[in-house]
Amino acid sequence: MKVCRTVADFRAARAGATAPLGLVPTMGALHEGHLSLVRRARGECASVAMSIFVNPTQFGPHEDFTRYPRPIERDHALAEAAGVDLVFNPSVEEMYPAGFATYVDGGGPALRWEGERRLGHFRGVATVVTKLFTVIAPQRAYFGEKDYQQLQVVRRLVADLNLPVEIAGCPVVREPDGLALSSRNVYLAPDERPHATALYRALTTGRKCVAAGERDAAAVRRAMETVLISTPGATIDYVAVVDPVTLEPLERVDGPARALIAARLGLVRLIDNAPLVDLNQG
Ligand code: AMP
Repeated sequence: MKVCRTVADFRAARAGATAPLGLVPTMGALHEGHLSLVRRARGECASVAMSIFVNPTQFGPHEDFTRYPRPIERDHALAEAAGVDLVFNPSVEEMYPAGFATYVDGGGPALRWEGERRLGHFRGVATVVTKLFTVIAPQRAYFGEKDYQQLQVVRRLVADLNLPVEIAGCPVVREPDGLALSSRNVYLAPDERPHATALYRALTTGRKCVAAGERDAAAVRRAMETVLISTPGATIDYVAVVDPVTLEPLERVDGPARALIAARLGLVRLIDNAPLVDLNQG
C-alpha cells in the first residue's frame, strides 16, 4: 500500500494503478463501516484508493474539527489489511493552499436537514469531494448510507457537473444493539452509550408503523419522536420522512420513503436513517 501526502505524489502513483479504480473517501478514525466500503470496492474494482482527510471546510466554527480523532498509524494498518492499494492523506495546506477561493455549493438535496443545521457543511463536502474526484480520478466512488443526505448530495453533484464517476451507496453497518458505527461514537460517555440505541429503535418503530399500514407521514414521525422523547438524555434535532432522492418532506408514505433522524445524547450529536419501505431506493 502506498501512502501519498501530496497531489503530485498521488498522481504519479495513480499512473501505475490498474483500472477500474475505486475510491473510498473518509476522514479516518476507521471502523467497520469504512472497511465495508473498502471490501465492496475491492470486490468490484481492480485497484482501490482511500482518502483520509479531516476536511476543515465541512465543519462549523463550533464543531469538533480540532478534537476529531486522528489515529493515522492505526488507519494505515486497517486500510492495508482491508486491501487498499493507494492512500491519499494530504495536509490541510495541500488541499487549501493560501489564496484558495473556489467552492462548490449544492442546492436541491443539500438545502434541508443537515444543510439547515450545519450551515456550509455540504458546501465543504461538495468542494472536497469534487477536488478528490479530480485528483484521484476514480471510475467508482463508495459512500455509506450512514450519511444518507451526503450520498444524495454527491449523486446530485456528479449528475449536475457531469463528473465521470459512478457513485455506489453502501448499507449502514451497526453495532449488535443497532447503533450505527461512527467515528464520533467515542464521544459518548459510558452512561450515555446504552441510550444511543434510541435512534435505531425509533427507525425500527417507523418501519413497523408503515408495515402495519400507516400512510400518514406525520403519524409515522410522531411514533418515532415518542421513542426519542422517552429516552433519558436524548433531545431531538429533527425527525423527518422524506423522498429518498430529493430529501423533500413527504405527507404520505405511498412509495419510496426514507426516515432521517438527528438527535443529541447529552452533548453528542448523532444521525441515522433507514428506508421506510423496502422498495428499490426507498
Ligand atoms: P467519514 O469518515 O465519517 O466521513 O465517513 C466516510 C464514509 O464512510 C462515508 O461515505 C460514510 O457514510 C461511510 N460510513 C461511516 N460510517 C458508516 C457506517 N456505520 N456504515 C456504512 N458506512 C459508513
